[in-house]
Amino acid sequence: MHRTLNRKAAVNKLFLNAKTCSLSHTIHVLPDHIANQIAAGEVIQRPASAVKELLENAVDADATEIHLILNDAGKALVQVIDNGKGMNPDDARRCFERHATSKIKQIDDLFQIRTMGFRGEALASIAAVAQVELKTRTNDSDVGTQLEVSNSRIESDMPVATPVGTSIAMKNLFFNVPARRNFLKSNAAEMRHILEEFNRVALAFPEIRFMLTANNQQLYQLEPGSLKQRIIQLLGNPYQSKLVSVDEQTDYLNIRGFVGKPETAKKTRGDQYFFVNNRFIKSAYLHHAVMSAYQELIGSDQFPSYVLFIDLDPAQIDVNVHPTKQEIKFEDEKIVYAFVQAAIRHALAQFSITPTLDFDLDSSIQSLSSIQQPFTEERRQATAGSSLFSGFTQKNQAHLIERSSGSKPWAGLPIREVPTPSEQQPSLINSHVDLDEIEFTQLLNTYIIYPLNNGYRLIHQQRAHERIRFEKLLEADTQQPIASQRSMFPATIELSGADSALFEELLPELVALGYLIEPFGKNTYVVQGTPADMESGAEQQVIDQLLEQYKHLAQELKLPRKESLVRALAKQQAIRGGQKLTEREMRELVSDLLQCQQGNVSPDGHPTYLEFRADQLNKLFGFQ
Ligand code: ADP
Ligand code: MG
Repeated sequence: MHRTLNRKAAVNKLFLNAKTCSLSHTIHVLPDHIANQIAAGEVIQRPASAVKELLENAVDADATEIHLILNDAGKALVQVIDNGKGMNPDDARRCFERHATSKIKQIDDLFQIRTMGFRGEALASIAAVAQVELKTRTNDSDVGTQLEVSNSRIESDMPVATPVGTSIAMKNLFFNVPARRNFLKSNAAEMRHILEEFNRVALAFPEIRFMLTANNQQLYQLEPGSLKQRIIQLLGNPYQSKLVSVDEQTDYLNIRGFVGKPETAKKTRGDQYFFVNNRFIKSAYLHHAVMSAYQELIGSDQFPSYVLFIDLDPAQIDVNVHPTKQEIKFEDEKIVYAFVQAAIRHALAQFSITPTLDFDLDSSIQSLSSIQQPFTEERRQATAGSSLFSGFTQKNQAHLIERSSGSKPWAGLPIREVPTPSEQQPSLINSHVDLDEIEFTQLLNTYIIYPLNNGYRLIHQQRAHERIRFEKLLEADTQQPIASQRSMFPATIELSGADSALFEELLPELVALGYLIEPFGKNTYVVQGTPADMESGAEQQVIDQLLEQYKHLAQELKLPRKESLVRALAKQQAIRGGQKLTEREMRELVSDLLQCQQGNVSPDGHPTYLEFRADQLNKLFGFQ
């Protein structure tokens, strides 16, 4: 009896505990819409992620025409309209559920994927973080379906008259996640990301017509055509006669596409696209393979353009290693590396861009030297830049001499240590020479040489002038704008969509720096004036190069925007090596350099001059 009571009490107690637990529990299951929002973070990070997913879905639906519409760089609206196969009413409702996909049914399918999407996460993610309107119709039905979805919930569902195909509009991205909305970048930056995604899909499917409208302005209308035509439509007319075709086939894999002739190589990475089974991928490893094929053909600081497609059995790759699916793993990386390298060398050789044809795919690819001896930075540096005076730093100099003569005594060169700002500065000022009194000589139209009391100084004219312009431009912005001179015949320039977005962002600062430039319709600008001490003409080229430099500094080196712009301008405005200078110009340049705050280094941190002292010279000649 006593026992039973006790048991009862114990059971009661248990119940009570369970109840208290459910009242003040610490672990709970998240409501669906919050779980979806969190999961969405991985898939949809910015408007460009939605663009990618929606375009890929349209491609997967066999569309032949795809229209991308944007407002406010996709922040207010990303809409994709396609003429693909559409969805029936049931599928339309289901497509917003997590793991809703028509593309895989079992795990084995993962290894045979040929479509773009397959995780069934994109639409669920978009519906979790934006307001979505879907209109869709299949061709076996006269009437379509229209759905409105918000916070992962279907808000309205009705029949609608709509063409065969699908239109998905994503509005007000992150309207319900303000923290993430605030995290979005400027419109120009978001637009750049979008255009990147657009380019990738448009390059992979040249047989599809693509249109892009942003803020009611049509930016692109890409007609179906060959890959070459598509590349030129997207990357610009200058590529017309500058593309070399790559096309090799083996049992294991095929490679096709185009690479730019060496003269189109740029200082910034930009137009470089790899697709594996038509899916854009990022691969530093394969990029390296391409670079190695260009070895000796382009400068060590240049990048070739390429659009390359590798096709192989999907079972040989694992695309699932990265959530956004831009990285893949090859079953045998080395073969792919050697193959890419050989195919490009072959292509360049066929167009007699490389002298030799060291290529034979039928022989065992593994025996290629590139496999035993991977391309290294050192090797590239050693082979590039043969001109005696290029890169005249102590490091390179020692290296050059060691290679050619191998005699160690020469290693003690009469060159000062590469100056550091604090160490070098006093010597620049205290050179104890009166600039008005001494003579300057130009050497190789590239260096200015002048005597010091105890030796001489060799100035690199381009680097020195870059430093001078840099400091002048930096000052100009904080104190007063650089004077500009109006052109009698304003020049019109045209930029690509991506460059235009970037350029727009830089315009106000450019005006303060002496460039009078105004927008003039779609991707077009009028240059009304340039800094007073600059020649006009070649505006298009000047702006193209400027943007190129800016991108390199701001996007790759991640320098602050202001510094990037001023550095790019300084580089552009500086006199070049090879330019003859008068005695007066040399004197002025040296005098300006001596007044600089950090006259000893160029804005990139390279020495602007080298000093040779009498005692070092004496030593070299064997006097102690
Ligand atoms: P996934 O593409 O990985 O399958 P998504 O969330 O992107 O996942 O899409 C879910 C499903 O919705 C797709 O599998 C497809 O069946 C359908 N779908 C999405 N977009 C379209 C479209 N534009 N046309 C036809 N069907 C579509
Ligand atoms: Mg998809």
